[in-house]
Amino acid sequence: MSVRRLQQIIRSVATSDGAGVSLRRSLGQSQSARVDPFLMLDEFFSDNPDDYIAGFPSHPHRGFETVTYMLDGHMLHEDHLGNRGDLLPGGAQWMTAGRGIIHSEMPQQESGRMRGFQLWINLPAAEKMKPAHYRDIRPEEIPLADLPGGGEVRVIAGGIVVEGREIAGPVQGLSTEALYIDVHLPAGGHFAQTVAAGHSAFVYAYEGSLAIGPADEPRPLSAQDAGVLSAGERVEISATAGPARFLLLAARPLGEPVVQHGPFVMNTREEIEQAIADYRNDRLV
Ligand code: MN
Repeated sequence: MSVRRLQQIIRSVATSDGAGVSLRRSLGQSQSARVDPFLMLDEFFSDNPDDYIAGFPSHPHRGFETVTYMLDGHMLHEDHLGNRGDLLPGGAQWMTAGRGIIHSEMPQQESGRMRGFQLWINLPAAEKMKPAHYRDIRPEEIPLADLPGGGEVRVIAGGIVVEGREIAGPVQGLSTEALYIDVHLPAGGHFAQTVAAGHSAFVYAYEGSLAIGPADEPRPLSAQDAGVLSAGERVEISATAGPARFLLLAARPLGEPVVQHGPFVMNTREEIEQAIADYRNDRLV
């Protein structure tokens, strides 16, 4: 079985979004820094409320999905459909913007640590204008499995096999067949997993350092960098210096044109102009 190699490193850059939330952006920092169908990955991590207190007040999206996964802190999601979602440590929210959603994500704390990730996954052209959908995923809905040799894995979307046992995450049935897992390894620990051949895949290291690839050609990936994997069937990842934590994401690529304007991601310039006009005229949602 061919082992995927670490093909490209996308170093995260410090930036801010929303009303002034400090974050590190790896995917999505430029148009070339994408891994089809993944458009963007932001990590937010701060103990200083000045970095997050302004939050993400009301704003629109069209044409893709956003996934927020919290490690620490408390945010409240509210949207035009009337959903209210409490984002708590270990929980996630999966929001399909489809033709349009208007939402806010605001911190529910004035001090302490805020830490987590927001991922944007593109929708195929045929689904960009479907009705918006929101799902709150409580921490206890995310299965946790111990890894042979130490460490653990949480499965948010898709499924993996650990010691012959299938572990399925709460999010299933996406047309991109997205896999979203969070892996914790002890020092020297190793993680191996089969990932659908033909699916795009990348790793985001958020603690420690990793070695990725076949045993005869491991390549290093440092914390806060995204590593894009080559084609192949199997992923092999080791923690090289102390314990490590990383996200592994994989999905079926769409192979469609991507035209982005801020929170709107469509296939053509005309569709973007339509989204801007719809939002301006209160017809987005
Ligand atoms: Mn948003």
